[in-house]
Amino acid sequence: MKPQPSIARPEESPDYFSNCTHCGFCLAVCPTYKLTGDENNSPRGRLRLWSEEAAGRLPRDPWTDHYTSECVGCLACEPACPATVPYGEIFERVRHEHVAARRATPALSLRLAAAAVAHPALFGAALLPARVLRRAGFNMHRFLFPGRPAVIESTSAYVKKLMARQRPTGPRVAFLTGCLMEAMFREINFATVRVLVENNVRVVIPEDQGCCGAFQSHTGLEGAEALAEKNRRAFGPLEVDAVVSNSSGCGYALGKALQGHHRVRDVLDFLGDLRPVRRVRASGDPTRIYVDLPCHLVHGQKLSGIPANVLDATGFRWELAPRAKDCCGSGGVYNLQKPENARAILAEKSAFLNAAAGDPVVLATSNHVCMMQWHSAGATGLVTRPYKVKHVIQLLDPGEEFSPVPVQTTP
Ligand code: SF4
Ligand code: SF4
Repeated sequence: MKPQPSIARPEESPDYFSNCTHCGFCLAVCPTYKLTGDENNSPRGRLRLWSEEAAGRLPRDPWTDHYTSECVGCLACEPACPATVPYGEIFERVRHEHVAARRATPALSLRLAAAAVAHPALFGAALLPARVLRRAGFNMHRFLFPGRPAVIESTSAYVKKLMARQRPTGPRVAFLTGCLMEAMFREINFATVRVLVENNVRVVIPEDQGCCGAFQSHTGLEGAEALAEKNRRAFGPLEVDAVVSNSSGCGYALGKALQGHHRVRDVLDFLGDLRPVRRVRASGDPTRIYVDLPCHLVHGQKLSGIPANVLDATGFRWELAPRAKDCCGSGGVYNLQKPENARAILAEKSAFLNAAAGDPVVLATSNHVCMMQWHSAGATGLVTRPYKVKHVIQLLDPGEEFSPVPVQTTP
């Protein structure tokens, strides 16, 4: 009997899978193919499995489920593909189908987290003890990099206070505060707001904004469309010059949700247009910054990188990390779902830090989940020398006590 197709072809594009010409240009950039050398664990292999199943030539098979679950979702295969196969879109669709059909079952902790992020106040309250511990210097988990988040004051309350004090007059932006970013890492949100205001940017925070939906995309769980609709209602009517995000994965997800309403910009890319205020460091400061580029910044949002004038404005000596555009293994929640693969990818990527010049050494990036993954390299012994993990925006931060000085820009 002919097997029933269980992966649907989107009706609007009958050639959805067959756009792939099997050229293989995507193999060299795929972290799971590089890890295993297994054709089925490559973009071309996965597309073939899904295509054969959709055409009814391959029965529903646990191996197809396995190779689907192995994909990091890094999107590195998209820019490598001369046939412009929309791999990310196809993968997202297949992943949702697999979860809906119970071919893949996200862990209970992820299902609970997916439900919680839909209610930001609840999620923020649930993580209050974790903020207290982080602020006190107890980093209870390999992914929790050090930081001092405000425990009670929200980014929204902080923005109102800072705007009243500094009174910027320049472009107006709406800021996505994020769910995990706000609940756990809000010191980065505070730094982002300070940098924007110091650069004469007016910041508004829509109170009824929601999670960007990236968590649902990463896990294949339902709910992304409801969150997108909520964010369209929150951001859509605003009269702003841009919507900005300080997390490349969240910015990518929100950008898809707000298509036709607003352009969502990575905050560092936005600052690049403004020629940001430059920090002054002591001459001969031996700090060395290694900049890593998140997948959703370069492959998702398709930016060429972080603007050089923004990195120069940190005042530090910086360089790109080796293979800066390669995936670090984080993949949103991939490092929770496939910890061995994620660790192997990170091991290769982070090895350079052991011999990197500089003291102190800072690994700087622009996505909190990448920061968590990079921190785990030291916490689990892959990197044995001391180093810090920072968001690039923190290197531009004028600090808690900055006063209302006239805005200066670099020539
Ligand atoms: S998204 Fe990344 S891991 Fe998945 S097939 Fe493409 S390159 Fe490989
Ligand atoms: S690069 Fe594109 S067309 Fe070539 S094998 Fe990969 S997905 Fe198919």
